[in-house]
Amino acid sequence: MQINDLQKKIETLLPTGSSLSKIEIEGPDIVVYIKGIDKFYEMDNPVRNIATSIKKKIIVRADMESMLPPDEAEAKIKTIIPETAGVSNLSFCPEFHEIWIEAMKPGIVIGKGGMTLKAIIQSTGWTPHILRLPTLPSEVVKGIRASMLKESEARKKFLTKTGKKIFAAHDKTTWVKTMALGGHREVGRSCVLLQTSNDKVLLDCGVNPDISDPTTAYPYISAANVPIDEIDAVIISHAHLDHCGFLPYLFACGFEGPVYLTPPTRDLMALLHFDYIKVMKRGGNTPIYSEKDVRKCIAHCITREYGEVTDITPEIKLTFHNAGHILGSAISHLHISDGLHNLIYTGDIKYGGTRLFSPAATTFPRGETVIMESTYGGREDILPQRDEAEQKLMKIIMDTLHANGKVLVPVFSVGRSQEVMLVLEEWARRMPDFNYKCYIDGMVMEASAIHTVYPEYMRDSVQRRILSNKSPFESPIFELVKKDRQEIVDSPDPCVILAPSGMLSGGPSIAYLKMMANNEKNSLIFVGYQGVGTLGRRIQRGDKEVATVDDEGRTLSTHIKMRVETAEGFSGHSDRRQLIAFARNLRPKPTNIFTVHGEESKCEDMAHILSKILRIESRAPMNLDGIRLK
Ligand code: ZN
Repeated sequence: MQINDLQKKIETLLPTGSSLSKIEIEGPDIVVYIKGIDKFYEMDNPVRNIATSIKKKIIVRADMESMLPPDEAEAKIKTIIPETAGVSNLSFCPEFHEIWIEAMKPGIVIGKGGMTLKAIIQSTGWTPHILRLPTLPSEVVKGIRASMLKESEARKKFLTKTGKKIFAAHDKTTWVKTMALGGHREVGRSCVLLQTSNDKVLLDCGVNPDISDPTTAYPYISAANVPIDEIDAVIISHAHLDHCGFLPYLFACGFEGPVYLTPPTRDLMALLHFDYIKVMKRGGNTPIYSEKDVRKCIAHCITREYGEVTDITPEIKLTFHNAGHILGSAISHLHISDGLHNLIYTGDIKYGGTRLFSPAATTFPRGETVIMESTYGGREDILPQRDEAEQKLMKIIMDTLHANGKVLVPVFSVGRSQEVMLVLEEWARRMPDFNYKCYIDGMVMEASAIHTVYPEYMRDSVQRRILSNKSPFESPIFELVKKDRQEIVDSPDPCVILAPSGMLSGGPSIAYLKMMANNEKNSLIFVGYQGVGTLGRRIQRGDKEVATVDDEGRTLSTHIKMRVETAEGFSGHSDRRQLIAFARNLRPKPTNIFTVHGEESKCEDMAHILSKILRIESRAPMNLDGIRLK
């Protein structure tokens, strides 16, 4: 439907006393400005009625004339929102006619059936945009919200430009193909180009955790032969750097298009991008992009919740579904040209319960081709059940603590660290005599704070605790490392230390390793996947003499005397059985599966077993392979 037709249709649906002042396009959203907003909201479910009737989601705002000046509006809003909501900040965003309300209890700001929200917009003309405050201080959340407000004008322009492209007249799509740009038959630098006769969309844009070999560090963007400014959109499945670490580089090269992701992915991604720059610098490497590029990237993010259908080009609709891997991780469902083809890109998936998340979704409206991760796709990759893994982890930890040793658990700041924190927290709650400190280093605490902003993305049990101010991340057993690390290691008190990076490929975990490796009373416990070529993998396979780099970039030899253990089953990835169960339970049954994100033999093994079990075409493409889907 063209904008003019929409305008005519919407006019017929408005109650007397209200009228349509204009329609604007903001990225994938249709924004309707209404004169007489108080009368408009006197109708029952006015927004839903219009959306159903025009078969498009809309955003409704009061027109400029109906809006009170900010100081008057603020005074009024303060009388409307109950004090128990814990509102800490009110900020006006005139470009979007919005009032941003940061509150400890957003539910109270919304009110029963949205009553309070309605009262705010009816009496002030400003549209409330409600944001949950983290229960722990978070510099990232604060920074992102401040920069979004500051960049409102530029964002409005960017969204208008993007919207024009999405709603432009277009030809029918005649062909669909994918091109493997990274993360095929390997783990790292995930990137797929989805190309149709009209559109070019990137699915993930990651880096390799091991950057020592520049030929395999980054995806083959240039080999795709697509000028960067012709890419219509980038979709990010989740915040791990092997899926999004290369994205700011696109912006450094002049990309100005939209990035689609879930709200938690945006926040966690910003955290990890800023940290990546720091880690690169510390390791004596020149970062491939600057903080400025990261900020530009954040300003171009368009967030979508699970289940929201969004037009990202005139011919492609995107819907995110839960992937169960980390906070905000998403499976992308792409509906191309009225059903000419449907592509499902899993990103990383956990098809099994964890403490934080529900298992990955397997039901989609349609889905002919599935691009599926295979990290643990090999024949031998049967991981223990979660409860067994937790028991094993706690046994090693308690044995070490009782023997007066210290435990180092290298973790990804995002994902495994929060899972391990939850296990420790529950253990401490059940064992009243557990009086050991658990030190949390690096970005782990900040990542945990971001979790508390998005309780609805986690399992009910965790959600309930955060909503009732009993966040497990705030247990007194956890202590954020603010003092000298050497002091912690030298102290006679046994303790547990959680520190990134998870593969000992940089960050504080290496610093601890160097200080702790020499003492056989200490333990090093791996709880996540160790990438090929990483220090973690070398120690895990039994190397006792390993090379590490000091702060000045000099190579040192570290002798590993400490106990080295792996508590398998903690991974946010599915094991082989779970991958097979995921594929088997996919509804509808796909016709093609491409296995990616796994070492060569694992991708091949997984492809082989799936084609045998499901009797469909399944294979493990290589990087640079182009595959025609339609
Ligand atoms: Zn991941």
